[in-house]
Parts: sequence; structure tokens; C-alpha cells
Amino acid sequence: SVPHDAPTEVVRTICTHCSVGCGIYAEVQNGVWTGQEPALDHPFNRGGHCAKGASVREHGHGEKRSKYPMKLVGGKWKRLSWDEAINELGDQMLKIREESGPDSLFFMGSAKFNNEQAYLYRKFAAMWGTNNIDHSARICHSTTVAGVANTWGYGAQTNSFNDMHKSKCIMFIGSNPAEAHPVAMQHILTGKERGAKVVVVDPRFTRTAAHADEYVHIRPGTDIPFIYGLLWHIFENGWEDPEFIRQRVYGMDAIREEVKKYDPAEVTNIIGVSEAQMKRTAKMMATVKPATIVWCMGGTQHTIGNANTRAYCILQLATGNMGIEGGGTNIFRGHDNVQGATDFGLLFDSLPGYYGLKTGSWQHWARVWDLDMGWIESRFDQGEYLGQKPMTSAGIPCSRWHDGVLKDKETIAQRDNIRMAFFWGQSVHTESRGRVVREALDAMDTVVCVDPHPNMAGVMHTRTDGVYLLPACTQFETYGSVTASNRSLQWRDRVVEPLFETKPDHEIMYMLAKKLGFADQMFKNIKVEGNEPNIEDVTREFNSGMWTIGYTGQSPERIKLHQQNWGTFDFDSLEAPGGPAKGETFGLPWPCWGTAEMKHPGTQILYRTDREVKDGGGNFRARFGVEHEGNNLLAEGSWSKGSEIQDGYPEFTDVMLKQLGWWDDLTEAEKQAAEGRNWKTDLSGGIQRVAIAHGCIPYGNAKARCIVWNFPDKIP
Ligand code: SF4
Repeated sequence: SVPHDAPTEVVRTICTHCSVGCGIYAEVQNGVWTGQEPALDHPFNRGGHCAKGASVREHGHGEKRSKYPMKLVGGKWKRLSWDEAINELGDQMLKIREESGPDSLFFMGSAKFNNEQAYLYRKFAAMWGTNNIDHSARICHSTTVAGVANTWGYGAQTNSFNDMHKSKCIMFIGSNPAEAHPVAMQHILTGKERGAKVVVVDPRFTRTAAHADEYVHIRPGTDIPFIYGLLWHIFENGWEDPEFIRQRVYGMDAIREEVKKYDPAEVTNIIGVSEAQMKRTAKMMATVKPATIVWCMGGTQHTIGNANTRAYCILQLATGNMGIEGGGTNIFRGHDNVQGATDFGLLFDSLPGYYGLKTGSWQHWARVWDLDMGWIESRFDQGEYLGQKPMTSAGIPCSRWHDGVLKDKETIAQRDNIRMAFFWGQSVHTESRGRVVREALDAMDTVVCVDPHPNMAGVMHTRTDGVYLLPACTQFETYGSVTASNRSLQWRDRVVEPLFETKPDHEIMYMLAKKLGFADQMFKNIKVEGNEPNIEDVTREFNSGMWTIGYTGQSPERIKLHQQNWGTFDFDSLEAPGGPAKGETFGLPWPCWGTAEMKHPGTQILYRTDREVKDGGGNFRARFGVEHEGNNLLAEGSWSKGSEIQDGYPEFTDVMLKQLGWWDDLTEAEKQAAEGRNWKTDLSGGIQRVAIAHGCIPYGNAKARCIVWNFPDKIP
């Protein structure tokens, strides 16, 4: 029963359900989380909440939560103590390293880690001696990071949610914030109330499209001819911004030449949009200023995702919409801390702070971590693991760990196949090629799932032994900093103590490091109480090393000061006109440079063009490299061509369902939903049903609940 007394404590914390980062008052009575309210004074949500955010109190509840360590023995789950679990796993890790080398382990990390945990996990893998690490950004915005970083430097959102109040034109492509980032949608609607035009480009008529002044119904996978088709009209009519291009952009002449190939009639044939609408949209994007572009996974989850993202950037450069308020590229991330987890290098192609993998980068972190470089070299083959790996496009890396089991070792240039994998706060339900994943799980010596719930990796195999479930606590049972999509950091306070026998991720990492013999070195600069490393010390440690992108000025004290003073920040500018953080931007968005005084205000808008280039103002390269190939809807591989697919993604249109031969298995209402004509029917449920009927492994965002539905016999 729910007690009705007033809460004994109100904790200011941050929603965990998307990258907007809304504030929440969590009401706690005698250590029990009993209620929640959206924070009225938080500068992002100002008392608003979406349905997802309204349910965060339920986050740690549920009968299927992992309560204590377990392992699968002879097909039955057996309860372990933490000491037993850590000892057994540590012994196995050391044995495998002895027999097959450190690269026989794979560390799947999580966008649900806070920044400090993400940083520690990257450090843990490096100290173990491998670069086999990745997380969910690989299959969401890693293509954005590559595309955007190659165009202007930082792989991140350039402006902010609140900044869209100042936009006069907002284009969404592959993005549906009305459902995925609902509080961001409130800011977009504020912009619309202030006169902004809204363009929605999507193969589906979404809830966001319902607010569009111009809904552009392109065929799936035709983003590049769409953008180049717009540029054709822009250049043809002289709507580009010549002064901006002359002053700030390198390479636009080559783009202009490329655009000539995109004849309007040909573009219409490929993308399915009339020439008249293309011209209208081009004029709007180029002449109604400032204009911004918002994109999400509908643009990135393609085999040519980074080319798509470069094309979006080029449109903004041609129209002079970069480096200004109300303009830029607003790239909405997915999970609440996927920006932070990416920033901290949970990717095999980067060390924390987007330091690459060249020797100098390792040397930098060896200095910060106070490690002997020779120690690292003994674990990384010079020229192989210290060098740049030739894998940068999405798809290859997320397949890497199972390729390691199934393919010739030369394919991925490692000494041995992967024998053990950690699925730490991230599972396999977002991977395509489900059968391959299952075979890979079956072939390993040991599978370890560290999660508040039994995750898909723990159940979709056919094993009877060698699977461990380590119960991590939820994000509200730990604390630390998180980075929202707009690069701002917030402190997420612990709402309740870890439930059952669960532990925070950083404590589990410490226990494993201790067993493996490198805890003293790894936590040299970090106080440890019992087995729990001090999170603030971790923040201070990364402050001392994250120089490339300016994570050096956000001390724990400064982030907490902002958290305690939400209401002093301006709703539009995010700046504090008064109060204790006067002159600072909310969350000290990176780059925020650490100085002796720690006074840098944070950077609300990247690459400001009201500054000279020599003073840090933006200068850009219009760079591109991939052409659209033909008008075959499946030519790009924008979805899996086989029968193993994922539900819930915007690529699931009527066209695809028909091509898969699944159309006739849907109900009439589901067919209408697939065609965007029926809002009331849950299409993802229908797709799950049909997928299962066709022998596929579906997944759903409800994660644990989805497992319960589909694998009831596998849940311990
Ligand atoms: Fe949470 Fe995102 Fe909804 Fe805000 S918009 S309440 S952060 S899920």
C-alpha cells in the first residue's frame, strides 16, 4: 500500500528515459520512493513531463528485477554470493587471458552508465588490455559522430533544445520528437508559436508530422537525393548564402558540381516527392532564417548513415545557418547518457574525449592514469591496437564481437576469438542478425550480464551453463553526472539506496579490478570506501584529462551548484542572469575549459560565426563522399534484408512489410497503422507477432517485459 504521509525527503534528480534530461522531484518516505513530480523550475521541462518520464518511479520496480548474483548450471539458475561470483568470473578471465590473450574478452558497455561509470569502464577495459569495447551509440549516432566530426570538428549537437525557440524554420529528418523526445517537442512548439515554419521529412506520417507546415513524404533510404535535390533548387535560384560560404566554408564548389547531377525530375523519380514541393521546401530552408535541422536515428541507422549526416550538414552550410542562434544541427540522442558514454570513449575507435587510438592518445591517457606506457604496450600490439583501425561505419563494429566467434580471425585482426563477453547495461536486442548473435553467445566460454534486469543476452542463447547475471542497481540507486543531448552536464542524485543485493556499476568494476589485481593502479587517485569508489573523485580525474572537448571545467561542485539552482537559468538562453551561477550556461555544456579559477561559462552554441575564426569562430569543410545508388529501396541496406529484424523502428513501413511478405499477416487496423493512417493501433505489437510467426527474434523498448513475453521459460 502507498503511504499518504508527506514525503520525508524530496530529491532533485534527472529523468533516465531520454537524452533531453528533464528534472524530477522524487518524493521519498523513510527510504521508499513513493511519488514524483516534474520539476517546475527546471530550465528544460519547466513542470512538463512526458508519459515515459512520468513513470520513472517504476524504474526499479518489478518482480523480474535481478536481486542477487546468479549463474546458469545444468540449465538451472543458481544463487551465488557476490564474493563467489567475482571470484569465479575473475578466475575465468585470468585463465582465458593466459590461454588466449586479453582480446578474447569483449566489453559491451552502456549509455545508461553515468559519465563517471562510463569513464571507469573504458579505463577498466584498457587496464585489462583490450580495445574490444562498444555500446549502443554504435548503432544509433556513431554515424553522426563520424559525419559531423569530419565536417566541423565536434561530433555533437551544435545548439540546444531551448535555442529552437529562436528558429524561424525547423526541419526534422528521421526524427519524431513528439514521441521520442516529447519535452524537446514542447520547445519546438514554442518556436512554432513564435512563428517558426516546421518541415517534417519522413517516410511515415508521424505525430511530429501532424505539426508540419510542410510534410515531405520521401521514400525510405533516399535522404541523400532529397538533400541534394534541395541544394539543386537552392543553387539554381541563388538562395545560398554566398558571403557565409566565402568567409567560412571550404569545399562548396565541389558540392556545387556534385549537385548538378541531381536533376529535379530524376530526384522526384528516386524519392517520390514532387518537384514543386522540393522547390517550396528548398526555398523555405534557405530563405526563412535562422533555420535548424533536427535528425535522429531515422537518418543515422543506414549503412551510409555518416554520408546522410554529412549531407544534412552541407545543407546548413550552403544556407549559412551554422554557428548562429536558432540555426545549427540539433541532433537528438537517444538514451539519457548516450552523449556522455560516447564522449567517454565507450567505442573501440576512441579513447575518452575522442582521443583516437594513435600512440600519442594512449600516451596522454597513460599520463592521466599514471600508468607506465610499457605496461600498455605489453597489452596492445604496437601498430595494431595502438593504431587506427579501419572500421568506422556503423554495422561492422556492432557485429564485431560475434564475428569474432564465427569468422576467421584475420577478418577482425585479433589474435583469438572472443571467448567471454560482458553485457554491462546493454544487451543484444538492438542487434540485427539475431541468429548470428545467438550462435555467438552459444559459442563463448562465458556470458556475463550486468543489469538491473535479466537482459536478452542472458536468455536468447541455447546454453545450459556458463551464464552469469550480476544484479546492478538502477540509475536512481546510484549517482553521478550525465550529459544531455545538448552537451550539458547534470548531477543525478541517488533517490534510494540499492535494492536487494544490487550494487552500483562502479562498485562492481572495483571488485572485479581488485580480483584481477589492478584496482590499486586503476583507483590510484580515487578514494574507495568499502568497495565503492568515490564518484566525485572520478569526475575530478576525468576533468584533468578531457582536454580535447573541454570536459575540464565541470567540477562536481559546479555541476551540483547548477542542479541546486535550476530556477535561476533563463528558459530561452539557458544562461543565469543572477544567482550563484551568474553568467554561466546551464549544465556547463562542453567545451567548458578548466582554468585555475574554473570560471568558463560553458558553450551553448558551437562554432559561433559572430566571432572571427582566429578567436574560435566556426570554419567548416563541406565534405562528402558517398552517392546515392539507384532508386532501389533496399539498395542501401537501410534495414536488414534478411528475416531477422527489429520492430519499432521508423523503417518499418508498409513497403518493407510487403517486401518481406509479411503484409497479409497483419490485421486491417495494423495495415492502416503501417501506412500512417491509424494512430490508435500499436503497430509494434503486430510486428512482434508477425516476426515471431516467421521465426524471427523481435525486441521491444520495454526490454525486460519483452523478454518476459517472449521467453517466459528462460527467466530465472
Ligand atoms: Fe524524460 Fe525525455 Fe520525457 Fe523528459 S522528454 S520526461 S527526459 S523521457
